[in-house]
Amino acid sequence: MAPSQSLQVTVVGGGLGGLTAALALRQQGCRVTVLEAAPQLGEVGAGIQTAPNASRVLIGLGLRGEMERIHTEPQDQVRRRWADGSIIAQLPLGRSVVEGYGAPYWHYHRADLHRILLDACLHPTGPGPVVEVHTDAQVVELDRSEPDRPVAVVARGDRFAGDVLVGADGIRSTVRDLAGFDDTLTFSGEMAYRALIPGDLIATDPATRFLVDRYHSTIWYGPDKHLVHYVIRRGEYLNVVAIVPCTEQVERDWTAPASSEEMVEAFADWDDRVPAMLSKAKDDVTAFALYRRRRDPVWIDGRVALLGDACHAMLPYQAQGASQAMEDAAVLAEELGAAGPAGIDGALARYVARRAKHAGLVQDASLRNMAFYHLPDGPEQRERDDKLRRFDGESDLSYDWLWRGSPLNDPDNEAITYQFAR
Ligand SMILES: Cc1cc2nc3c(=O)[nH]c(=O)nc-3n(C[C@H](O)[C@H](O)[C@H](O)COP(=O)(O)OP(=O)(O)OC[C@H]3O[C@@H](n4cnc5c(N)ncnc54)[C@H](O)[C@@H]3O)c2cc1C
Repeated sequence: MAPSQSLQVTVVGGGLGGLTAALALRQQGCRVTVLEAAPQLGEVGAGIQTAPNASRVLIGLGLRGEMERIHTEPQDQVRRRWADGSIIAQLPLGRSVVEGYGAPYWHYHRADLHRILLDACLHPTGPGPVVEVHTDAQVVELDRSEPDRPVAVVARGDRFAGDVLVGADGIRSTVRDLAGFDDTLTFSGEMAYRALIPGDLIATDPATRFLVDRYHSTIWYGPDKHLVHYVIRRGEYLNVVAIVPCTEQVERDWTAPASSEEMVEAFADWDDRVPAMLSKAKDDVTAFALYRRRRDPVWIDGRVALLGDACHAMLPYQAQGASQAMEDAAVLAEELGAAGPAGIDGALARYVARRAKHAGLVQDASLRNMAFYHLPDGPEQRERDDKLRRFDGESDLSYDWLWRGSPLNDPDNEAITYQFAR
């Protein structure tokens, strides 16, 4: 649907959050311009999972066919003990998630997911005005001399005015800084090794073959470390995320090239199958420092709104950062799409009211999983493992609440009481 007075929205950042927002806004009839700093649009070479709350948003945007083409469907969520690989708990995914939550739990290569979003934004006959995308367009300044027409100024000097400017420019958001939001960046003390291990190497080693015989989403729990892996592109790669204490160099530089040897060394005393798996990584291993944003419900300043990691960057310990950005996108578009020019301020206020608390709860729960995942062996670890066996989610956040998502049914967040983590 295209309202007669269609709004003009500038989205800064063409990551998964920015592109989902651009597509959702397009479908609500908004004229959208995406400004991306990188010379080419793309994503890091890694996997990503969308739980039903995010899959529901993407399917709602008409992407089911494309997602079916690129997805891999895990059949179970498996949790293993670090020392001997024994299974602590196994939760069925696959069909039972679709039956329970009305949408799937799927895995993808990030580049594939990013590509289908971009194609849909640019599709000449999709609903709403085609999204205008500019690369090599790093926003360096905001001109807010006309408060109702914020202007993004890019490094080469071009100016982009709109009714609303959305900062979807990631954890180190420039829009956030330029618009004067609080500095909420916090370092976790941890880092993630990321690697895509060729699936055929995993399949040909009898020690690791079990990892690709049936598709799982697997988490191994150990003292101070954990490991997540799942298959993407239906067996082409095993995507691995290995969390360990951060080195000073990676903390300083945020990211650094790493190696399979480094990962093997970090997990040398784990079940033999772990080093056997990690040793098969090629030379594309990278270490990422894990920063997060402290919970902060201030997401708008006049006609500037934040979305995704720019406002709620979280540790990846619920695998929800991009998924929450997708929920932001759906709600923002729903609110702005229903508003004419006179209703923009109310629409932005409703966007924050519907999203900030919800995403904040997920931020907190992701943070609590840091301790929950990394317990040393002992009474607390045994209590945790019992909880996992009861299938009532991780930390103190239930999957039922998380996976139902907020944009389409807007649950009563007040009903959930949590201690705010800082
Ligand atoms: C190890 C790991 C595993 C994860 N796994 C999952 C998962 O399974 N599921 C999930 O939902 N989430 C996951 N996440 C979280 C997820 O990756 C992020 O939350 C998500 O990518 C954030 O999207 P975004 O669009 O907000 O920001 P980004 O992806 O960071 O995109 C921001 C974009 O803005 C651009 N940009 C920056 N500054 C400017 C500027 N000044 N001008 C113009 N453009 C600019 C950047 O180039 C970039 O393209 C994981 C994170 C990590 C670290």
